[in-house]
Amino acid sequence: MGGMSRFHAGVVLLACLVLACGWPAHAAEPMLLTDAKPTVSLSPAMRYGVDAKLDLRAEDLFGKIDGDYFQDLPKGDPTFGFVDGAYWFHVRLGNGNPARRDYVLAVDYVLLDQIDLYLRRVDGSVAHEASGDHLRFQDRAYNYRAPNFLIRLEAGETVDVLLRVQSESSMQVPMTMYTEPAFLNQVRDAQFGIGIYYGMILALLLYNLILFASLRDANYLYYSTYVAGFGFVQYCLNGLAFEYLWPNSPRLANLAIPVSMAIGMLAMHQFVRVFLDLKQRLPIGNRILWGFIIFHALMLVVSFLAPYRVAVLPGTAAVFPGIAAIFGVSLVLALRGDRSARILLLAWGMLLLGTTVYAMVSFGVLPKMFLTEYGMQIGSALELILISFALAHRFASLRDENVRIVQASRDELEQRVEQRTRELSTTLNELAIANERLRESSLRDGLTGVFNRRYFDSTFEPLRDDCRAKGRDFSVLVADIDHFKQINDGAGHLIGDDCLHLAASVIERTVGDSGQVVRYGGEEFVVLMPDADETEMRSKANSIRAAIAASPLLTNGVPIPMTISVGGAHAAPGDSITAMDLLQQADEAMYKAKHQGRNRVVVH
Ligand code: GH3
Ligand code: MG
Ligand code: MG
Repeated sequence: MGGMSRFHAGVVLLACLVLACGWPAHAAEPMLLTDAKPTVSLSPAMRYGVDAKLDLRAEDLFGKIDGDYFQDLPKGDPTFGFVDGAYWFHVRLGNGNPARRDYVLAVDYVLLDQIDLYLRRVDGSVAHEASGDHLRFQDRAYNYRAPNFLIRLEAGETVDVLLRVQSESSMQVPMTMYTEPAFLNQVRDAQFGIGIYYGMILALLLYNLILFASLRDANYLYYSTYVAGFGFVQYCLNGLAFEYLWPNSPRLANLAIPVSMAIGMLAMHQFVRVFLDLKQRLPIGNRILWGFIIFHALMLVVSFLAPYRVAVLPGTAAVFPGIAAIFGVSLVLALRGDRSARILLLAWGMLLLGTTVYAMVSFGVLPKMFLTEYGMQIGSALELILISFALAHRFASLRDENVRIVQASRDELEQRVEQRTRELSTTLNELAIANERLRESSLRDGLTGVFNRRYFDSTFEPLRDDCRAKGRDFSVLVADIDHFKQINDGAGHLIGDDCLHLAASVIERTVGDSGQVVRYGGEEFVVLMPDADETEMRSKANSIRAAIAASPLLTNGVPIPMTISVGGAHAAPGDSITAMDLLQQADEAMYKAKHQGRNRVVVH
């Protein structure tokens, strides 16, 4: 950036000179252009006059150059704010270069609507050229973002230049005179720096838009919109939008600034509001930022309806209070220990610092050099990058939080599954036990507790077949209580039930492990004795009979005697008799016992 630093060195040198000598008392002395100073600010040689009624013409004013119409610039600065009417500026130029003829006069404020340049030579001839963003871009001497005029001076020639400026934008007319090569150098260097700046903004914009597209986090959208709006305002203020986007449409050039400013500011406040979760964490800050959002939304509408000045003035006025508000809420949250708020604070601090430096340069407090003149650009670049950091930090903390939540819920799920599994297996066990009991009870007789007829029907034949196949003994007893009807009739049915119960338990106890006791019907029992030979069968039958006879039921101390008749049948190993025939034999034997007088055992 050699040209750039030469340029700035020149400006600083000039500023020192001016400070040392004071402002020129009178402009009759021409600003002498020499090769020693290829870049010269015209401010020290400029004087101005106001044309409130828009009725002055160049011919008239050339006559007033040496009168008192033109005055020195206030504090040497050609900045007047938003004004009505046209302003006229006069400067007298002298070419001090014997060998150089071509110079470029550039106006370093790009938003001026209409600029007319009148050049009068010594012979009295007047040339007129026009520029400004109300004229087409291609009509400029050089296709450059700032309005510029090519001025051709003979060696030693002195000319009077009148510049008439009328604009809806603020009236700022800083003019610089370049030798043609100096101008081209500074164009090249400035364009390079500007390219870096907008390249960075564009990269940030695209990067965050991509993040928004993939993460679907609205913060990235708000931030991208802010970057786009902010970048675009800068783009317009630098004159690049007019140069590259709508060189033929001054109307769009004027509309773009308030519109993009409103969108950018709106998005900026919305971003901070959502990013810092002000609704939850600082409700008053939330309300304040909402106020700014509504205001800028209104300004957005106004931009389309009202003239440039009405649209841009309130919007601009709200920028600093807005940044101060953001700075304030960030500060409060940062003091509470919020890391994201701290990064935001630093970010907007950079922008404030850059802007302050820029303002101090404008007011002449700080010298003009690369760091100070481009303070706003540098500050804003740092700001945008830092906010990207804040977003990344937020993303990282959200991700950590997510991982933590997922892990916690996974642990909890695992515990729950374990507990459920335990409960389930316990229940299954209980169910199995209950089922076993149910199956068992369905095979038992409800009154006596011995096996029932169902059990008998399903067991008897297979049991017999098994013993026959294996060549083992098999015995069956049929036992019937004697004169049970009399017991029932004499003592009552309930006592009869008690007798049945007693008889069943006596039989079961007597048989023990050597057989299974079944209540075959009414007061009739069957005992199945696999593996019991005839002797064992006979002995068990006798034991049963004796035990029943010896166990009367006691009701209120009165014994109710009971006897039983038992019939037995036996199948020896190798005997092929069927289960049913065996039962038949035992039954017949039991009837024989009845006939022989009851309370006895008969074996088939
Ligand atoms: P026998 O000596 O010839 O066997 O005479 P018995 O009276 O015992 O014979 P019978 O078959 O005539 O009578 C059986 C009686 O058993 C008839 C019935 O009322 C009674 N009985 C059958 N089942 C039950 C029962 O579950 N409870 C009661 N209390 N009595 C029953
Ligand atoms: Mg009987
Ligand atoms: Mg009977």
